[in-house]
Amino acid sequence: MSHYPLPKTSKNADEVIGTMKYLKEKDVKHQDSKAFCLVFNSTPEVKKIMTEATSLFLSDNGLNPTAFPSLKQFENEVVQMTASFFNPPKTITGSMTSGGTESILMAVKAAREWAHKVKGIKKPELIMPITAHPAFNKACHYFGIKLKTVSVDPVTFKANVQEMKKKITKNTIMLVGSAANYTQGIVDPIEEIAELAQEKNILCHVDACIGGLILSLWRKLGHSIPRFDFEIEGVTSLSVDLHKYGYCAKGASVVLYRDNELRKHQFYATTNWPGGIYISPSFMGTRPGGPIAAAWAVMQHLGEEGYLKLAKKTKEATDEFVKRIKEIKGVYLIANPDMSIVSFGSKKYDIFAIADELSFKGWYMDRQQDPESIHLTIMPNHLNVVDDFFKDLNSAIEKSKHTKPNKDKLMNRITKSFVKMMPNALLSKLAKKETEKMNFNSNDKQRMAPMYGMMGTLTGKGTLDEICIDVMDKIFTYSPRLEREGESEKNDQLLN
Ligand SMILES: *Cc1c(COP(=O)(O)O)cnc(C)c1O
Repeated sequence: MSHYPLPKTSKNADEVIGTMKYLKEKDVKHQDSKAFCLVFNSTPEVKKIMTEATSLFLSDNGLNPTAFPSLKQFENEVVQMTASFFNPPKTITGSMTSGGTESILMAVKAAREWAHKVKGIKKPELIMPITAHPAFNKACHYFGIKLKTVSVDPVTFKANVQEMKKKITKNTIMLVGSAANYTQGIVDPIEEIAELAQEKNILCHVDACIGGLILSLWRKLGHSIPRFDFEIEGVTSLSVDLHKYGYCAKGASVVLYRDNELRKHQFYATTNWPGGIYISPSFMGTRPGGPIAAAWAVMQHLGEEGYLKLAKKTKEATDEFVKRIKEIKGVYLIANPDMSIVSFGSKKYDIFAIADELSFKGWYMDRQQDPESIHLTIMPNHLNVVDDFFKDLNSAIEKSKHTKPNKDKLMNRITKSFVKMMPNALLSKLAKKETEKMNFNSNDKQRMAPMYGMMGTLTGKGTLDEICIDVMDKIFTYSPRLEREGESEKNDQLLN
């Protein structure tokens, strides 16, 4: 039996869209610059052109370049326009993908094939700093590659290259560095990593998914930025997301390779299928035309001039956030960022309690561990909300003065943040049941109860990974919507 059946009769468009708009109201208010991750807004014109381009190519399929030569042209031009940010050699080439994860999967897959063919490596290994994006863990997991991580400096948060050197074996296929890392906005010592890789005839990937464009633009604006791109000889591939600081529609990223010999290892072809010859450049089969077309349109519309303007605004906003956080007693900046990522923690108070208070005010907060911190990706429009944010931050700190840095078990904490993604109905049921059983004061009830309720229903008694997967399984299990007024408000509070 299906829990949510297809409607028996057709519904008109207004009704359908109306329901969607109603449900969307509960989503994070990124249009009001309340989010510091996930969505990158720029200007109303960008949104307009992106919408038009998407709708023009909504149903078109980038899989087959002979059927859609327009999309093939857009893609090749987007790859070259993107490459122009990164001191490319003449031989530069690349592909568009659906996002940073796919770009990274493709670079790692190409490295595996290259190492197998050129060096005969059958048990591939990859080395990266612990701060590198989980997309690399995922890639190694999917492609059967042994992953080795190295530490980062506790003050500068840069990868420990000496440790990398020690971990290299004859099976190492790739060294990874971030420009910059998502966690603290720090650029790894790419020159040293790339040199080491070159010396050992190993590939070197730079993950510039979040930082590449903004770092390149800040350098053009005259700011001092560490070297990280193809001007360093040993860098063989680089990933950069257009749906982040490229302000393109979601589903747009580029993976660049120093030359097409390397890129060929990314492609896939099979010739004995009864359906004919099948060739596919990247992970996906059908490739939506919308994001490819929208990326081309946005890049043409903004041009270097437009990107520089937005980068300047982002720089101003970042400087303001950094300056004001440094001025506040009770919180501290985790690292001096190379790009527009600001993460801050507290040695006096529970930083997650502060994050909770900010969430109550409608800010969408990203929480990090090791060290515990609030993570802010600063975007151009955050310049308009600096005063609002710091007013709320100050009051959040004031309200958290009774707290101490949290000694709660990591597992509980992670579960708590997962709880925020739970379907409303399930959550309220759990919370009600659990708060009846436990003696919380009314304040704690709101914050902690859902978490304990959650913990109680988990079946996975194993590792933290297993518990997380158990939680995700619950999140992606259908539960009925709450239609009654008031009920949903109550649940919103619990969710915060
Ligand atoms: C966002 C990000 C990725 C992954 O990109 P997705 O588009 O989310 O798949 C990889 N690396 C870094 C540094 C990122 O910030």
